[in-house]
Amino acid sequence: MKVILLRFGELFLKGANRKVFERALVKNIKDKLSGLGYSFQETFGRYVISKFREEDLDELVDKLKTVFGLHSLSIAEELEATPEAIREFVSKINIGKKTFKVSVKRADKHFPISSMEFSKDLGGIIFHNTQDAVVDLYHPQIEVCVDIRFNNKAYVYTDTIMCQGGLPLGTSGDALLLLSGGIDSPVAGYMMAKRGLNLEALHFHSYPYTSEQAKEKVLTLAKKLGKYCGKIKLHIISFTKVQEEIHKNCAPEFMITIMRRIMMRVAERICEKNKLGAIITGESLGQVASQTMQSITVTNAVLKEKPVFRPCLGMDKEEIIAISNKIDCFETSILPYEDCCTVFLPKNPVIKPTIGHCLKEESFLNVEELVEYALSSEEIVEI
Ligand code: ATP
Ligand code: MG
Repeated sequence: MKVILLRFGELFLKGANRKVFERALVKNIKDKLSGLGYSFQETFGRYVISKFREEDLDELVDKLKTVFGLHSLSIAEELEATPEAIREFVSKINIGKKTFKVSVKRADKHFPISSMEFSKDLGGIIFHNTQDAVVDLYHPQIEVCVDIRFNNKAYVYTDTIMCQGGLPLGTSGDALLLLSGGIDSPVAGYMMAKRGLNLEALHFHSYPYTSEQAKEKVLTLAKKLGKYCGKIKLHIISFTKVQEEIHKNCAPEFMITIMRRIMMRVAERICEKNKLGAIITGESLGQVASQTMQSITVTNAVLKEKPVFRPCLGMDKEEIIAISNKIDCFETSILPYEDCCTVFLPKNPVIKPTIGHCLKEESFLNVEELVEYALSSEEIVEI
């Protein structure tokens, strides 16, 4: 019977928490595959998906590849774990004009033949049945793997497909992703979701300075992230008035710094209201003036309690773009619509702001009122 064999990686490290992680992983897998017919079986250290329709196989594999916490999968033949059944199946494998080796792994040591011996035995069978096949134990083009498990079954496969790795979604808690229309923030969201954080997202727009298309773009990005993260609750906030007030009252070079401090205050309030434990941004150290150590210091300083996770902090743009492409966001991210951060952009933003500077500029504003005003514009979309 053809099955999909699923392996989970890091869960092994989790000791007492292991059960919690496994339960979450199984639930996430079942949620992802809902609507498709299949049977799900847990055997120690592996999951097996079987009894699906052949024409659903590609869709099943595509979906499983987006589940955090799964390490890899193989499309395998499930057999009774007897030497005869395995020999018979292997005798039908045609390697063609390739180099190969056979690797037997026995999780269940009750199997009567040692792994080494049985590998040689099966290798001999394939060798005899396939003209031109050449054994290469070190760099084979094809590795025929025979995995003998505790459930009295053996799994035979030749390919291993890598999955996302990471930790099951939700097992690290819930957090708020500041989602712009740019390249970095969707990548940051993906990276933290991969570490088990369930995401809600927050987007600021400055309509009519920013367009309807800019907002659409963010909806598209949230949807693309949703392929990995499931449904995302997106909080949309109008930042127009805040930006106009800063523009009117503060020194131009502080525009972005003060704006970011107000964004963070709004974000923390949304976290409090929605029980979210952290804020996530796509900042990368030194990328622009608002992402220097000093700028990060003064934006963090407005937060009472929530930490800010910045997984892109130590990454180069090329590294961020590689992930952006992998999660299929790049083409959308580079669409040329204005982001609210580019409205009223000063020529010379401060690179090393101090808290003293910021407090002075903010004394020209009613910050609390602006935060409240922004919060009152909140629109919520479930994507
Ligand atoms: P990105 O590619 O994510 O837009 P960026 O390089 O353009 O990043 P900035 O515009 O300085 O950098 O933004 C830094 C971070 O602040 C973003 O990664 C995002 O997390 C957050 N941010 C910026 N603009 C917005 C916005 N309009 N709505 C929500 N969050 C935003
Ligand atoms: Mg941006």
